[in-house]
Amino acid sequence: MGYTLLIRHCGQLLTMADTGRAGSPLTGSRLRDWHSIPNGYVACKQDRIVALGPMAELDESLVTAATQIVEARGRVVMPGLVECHTHLVFGGNRAAEFQRKLQGESYLDILASGGGILSTVRATRAASDAQLLENALHHLAGFRRYGVTTLEAKTGYGLDAATELRLLQTAREAGRQQPVRVVSTFLGAHVPGPEYAGRPAAYLDMLAAEVLPRLDPTEVPFVDIFCEQGAFSVADARRYLTRARELGFGLKIHAEQLHDLGGCEMAAGLGAVSLDHCDYLTPTAAARIAALTGGRTVAVLLPLVPLFLRQEQYAPGRQLIDAGLPVAISTDFNPGSCPTKNLWLALSVACLKMGLTPREALAAVTLNAAWAIGQQQECGSLEPGKRADVLVLDVPTPEEIPYWLGENPVRHVIIGGQVQAS
Ligand SMILES: [Zn+2]
Repeated sequence: MGYTLLIRHCGQLLTMADTGRAGSPLTGSRLRDWHSIPNGYVACKQDRIVALGPMAELDESLVTAATQIVEARGRVVMPGLVECHTHLVFGGNRAAEFQRKLQGESYLDILASGGGILSTVRATRAASDAQLLENALHHLAGFRRYGVTTLEAKTGYGLDAATELRLLQTAREAGRQQPVRVVSTFLGAHVPGPEYAGRPAAYLDMLAAEVLPRLDPTEVPFVDIFCEQGAFSVADARRYLTRARELGFGLKIHAEQLHDLGGCEMAAGLGAVSLDHCDYLTPTAAARIAALTGGRTVAVLLPLVPLFLRQEQYAPGRQLIDAGLPVAISTDFNPGSCPTKNLWLALSVACLKMGLTPREALAAVTLNAAWAIGQQQECGSLEPGKRADVLVLDVPTPEEIPYWLGENPVRHVIIGGQVQAS
């Protein structure tokens, strides 16, 4: 049988395929030494990539009248973006709090006064299933236009057992109704629910007793917690994550966002798949984590969050990489601290504020982001056998991607071998 889809005359084909030892996220020089092919092609059968290489090596006998052709005309072609940290499902928005923030109130002040996450919780609990699904589908369509082909979606705006389960259901249904692959994470432990104000440990006990046992780790592969002042302590987070691990879940943590509490190192010790935020993670702790985990735990950097919160402290991305940690980049899309779906902008700001090179940043939104959500076998690089999630960009070189600040460079999005309508 011939190819069902051929993307040809790719000026530069960024495969992101690991040139070093396989089987772990990209660290150190592997983060920038991924493979690219000048004047290349990608061939697919149904939803899978089956061959790729220089145009001179294309097997024309497999290009038939039935093969759909995408002409890249010398442009950059790369894997679909992997968005590894979003709070996809929520009701309402927080535009009014944005005004308060501009007048000088801090994130923790707004949270302490019943705003922030808790105001979104009120709007989410009040929203119908249909409204939540419509919002999620709207946001997924926006992500898809930016070239996101796989996306992690966290709960965390229900904060009671019934609503949190409803949010998981919404994310799953949204994944079914459109082509972007949705990977679910349970973040019931975002902050203590309003009914448990001042009793964070009791709230976690409720989640561990009433919610976690009802979740199937094959459908909800990750459990996450926000370890921070006003949310959960390192000791409470350790206890909760330990229980989640016993139940078979992969672990994630929001940590070192506003203070250096040690949450990252604690979660890494439990074998977490990712440590997210890391704005206050020190290079010394990063080196210990890299040694402890053998470079398998990914630091997910969220550079648009400090920008949107008007904070000066950005994760020391350059030093984290130099300390041996694999890094990924995400938007942290959510209604409070980062209401954007523009992962390209996050990539640019990671270069500007965290010291990543464009090549490192590209690996951080593809293969390492896939590792951060356990999807590295399926996506994140262009390799035979992987799902045919491919982007044709409107730029001729990868160096131009972070340069056109805030632009969407995507010309064509292909998901599972299907060219998406723009
Ligand atoms: Zn987050």
